[in-house]
Amino acid sequence: MKEVRSLKVTNELGMHARAAGQIVALAGKYDARLFLKKDTREADGSSILSILSLAVPNGEEIEARIVGRKAKEFMDELESLFINNFGETESRPYRPKKKVIKGFPVSPGIVIGKAYHLDRSKTQIFHRKLINEEEVQRDLARFRQAVDMAKEQIHKFKSNIPERVEGYAFVLDTHSMILDDAMLFDATLKRIQKEKINAGWALEKSVENIHVLFKEVEDDYIGRRMDDVDGVSERVLRNLAGVERESLADIQGEVIVVAHTLSPVDIVEIDVDHVLGILTDVGGRTSHMAIMSEALDIPVIVGLERATDAILQGDILIVDGNTGEVIVNPDPKTILSYEDEIRRYANYKSAIDRVKHLPAETLDGHKITVKANIEFLAEAQVAIESGAEGIGLYRTEYLYLLKRDFPDEQTLFQDYDQIARMVAPNPVTIRTLDIASDRMESGMDGTREDNPALGLRSIRFCLKERKVFKTQLRAILRASRYGNFRLMFPMISGLEQFLEAKKILRSVMRSLDKEGIEYDREIPIGILIEIPSAVSIADILAKHADFFSIGTNDLIQYALAIDRDNQQVAGLYDPFHPAVLKMIHQVVKAGQKEGIDVSLCGEIAGDPLSILILLSLGLEEFSMNIGSIPLVKKMIRMVPLQKVKEGFGDIICLPTSKKVEDFVLKMAKAHLPDIFEEDVFRYRTPGTA
Ligand code: PEP
Ligand code: MG
Repeated sequence: MKEVRSLKVTNELGMHARAAGQIVALAGKYDARLFLKKDTREADGSSILSILSLAVPNGEEIEARIVGRKAKEFMDELESLFINNFGETESRPYRPKKKVIKGFPVSPGIVIGKAYHLDRSKTQIFHRKLINEEEVQRDLARFRQAVDMAKEQIHKFKSNIPERVEGYAFVLDTHSMILDDAMLFDATLKRIQKEKINAGWALEKSVENIHVLFKEVEDDYIGRRMDDVDGVSERVLRNLAGVERESLADIQGEVIVVAHTLSPVDIVEIDVDHVLGILTDVGGRTSHMAIMSEALDIPVIVGLERATDAILQGDILIVDGNTGEVIVNPDPKTILSYEDEIRRYANYKSAIDRVKHLPAETLDGHKITVKANIEFLAEAQVAIESGAEGIGLYRTEYLYLLKRDFPDEQTLFQDYDQIARMVAPNPVTIRTLDIASDRMESGMDGTREDNPALGLRSIRFCLKERKVFKTQLRAILRASRYGNFRLMFPMISGLEQFLEAKKILRSVMRSLDKEGIEYDREIPIGILIEIPSAVSIADILAKHADFFSIGTNDLIQYALAIDRDNQQVAGLYDPFHPAVLKMIHQVVKAGQKEGIDVSLCGEIAGDPLSILILLSLGLEEFSMNIGSIPLVKKMIRMVPLQKVKEGFGDIICLPTSKKVEDFVLKMAKAHLPDIFEEDVFRYRTPGTA
């Protein structure tokens, strides 16, 4: 049976999400198919998104066609929905037409779909004094049992970890370690005993205490480890309360998950066939959840602050993981424009993905090297899969965090050994510990610094704490024979410091020689140039180093006196500042004069527009965040290097960063129009730290 009728949209809001929802619900009742046609476009009446894509405003007509059983009855009901304005009355409160909220994008992509609230509200904690020894003993036992249960749960997740996030199993190990940590475990037991308070309350107090200690920590990365502590304690609290948690693995249909926060365990559970995107109220770019979510290849936005309030279950959302924007209940016109944007982004993505495993060779045949910056061993695999030709910066801090003691040589060796083998024959530039003394738990007892960025950190800390330094150097050297390592010292401000670091390295080499332990005797020793004083004497340093890597994240911070972690001055962080460009140029020239390799590993290396400038300044090797690699390769392959060098000749003489940027865009428009055609600049994230 077939029924065709023309229907007029008379409700004020047009065929918006609620109206479309009612049509879909009606279609679900009948054993027939409904098609809605507007001009030349046709929508499937069983799909809310398809209906919304017609973007029918108030006053317009559509053609409805029903094929199947009871078509007439179905059409009559459908018509009365239209006549009754989909139940829309003036007094009915209606959600704002369009609401936009913004957070930090941590995984790119654009999707349109329905919101699904995942309840991750905190377990309620009851405060109760324990009245006798029997109660104390009972709560001690309850707490131990809840912790054991949490360990078991984590162990179970780890043994069933899906392949796509397998490399992140160490996050689950971190959680187990936190459960064992004295600041959490012993401290809670002590509180139950001494303060005679119930287990949940005691745990809450221990976590608060850890929060106080971490509040002083300015480093975003380490500060974010609090997310892990919170996640772990929440698990124990739930076990104490006997509350089961809703699992992401149970989600049906295709939805966008909205939650206050998600733990790394949640990420492990996500089935990407059902979850189109993820939004959370809290979390920063460096939270474990954010780092892991990149592997899911779906858009993820964190730090939205009020996503769980602003979004209701079933709301239609547009999630733009490129800009960090979420549009709640968009109007049909916006949906339509985003559908175009989705297609455009998909074209761009497939264009850059096609080149990611091709060499980064300029149009006129110059070979440029593109490597990855990583923070965890697990990222090495992702980096290579994304087209990295090696690891240009391995930040080795993570094994030192959240531990009572410094990691021993064997722990470090195992990590370095794995990365050496995994990346070989490509090189890994391994940076020695770059951490401030007050950022480690072991340093939390007394050492507080007013200006940690200018304090006892990085190589300064290592030269003071020689035992810690030597342990790391031994582990690096021992692993060096299994791969292709380059060793790099960070925060070098002068020659003496570099020579001292090398002297310690040589003494470690001698002791390995004595023990008959093999290592790579030719391991190149380089400097991370990130302090302006090192730039000034780059000519001197170049005579003693095998390579330079320019760390613009810190170099910009120190040159412009801008705290890179301070939101108040974030707008002043200026990668195109003429002083910065002059410094980069000076280092490149000094390196070229001595014939040593000079590369750049700051965040600006991930920005295609910066790449044009950096190529013109003579750089031929870059290391960047993994996500930028395909785009940067695509960019490099479109550049006629010689032409760019000639055209950009005087760029370092321009007086302001605005003039620099305008100049580059003008030159690019004139000489490299394909770059705009192919959207290479459209999805760029200007380099920040
Ligand atoms: C830099 O300072 O530019 C750098 C690469 O290192 P980090 O961001 O780890 O300080
Ligand atoms: Mg640095």
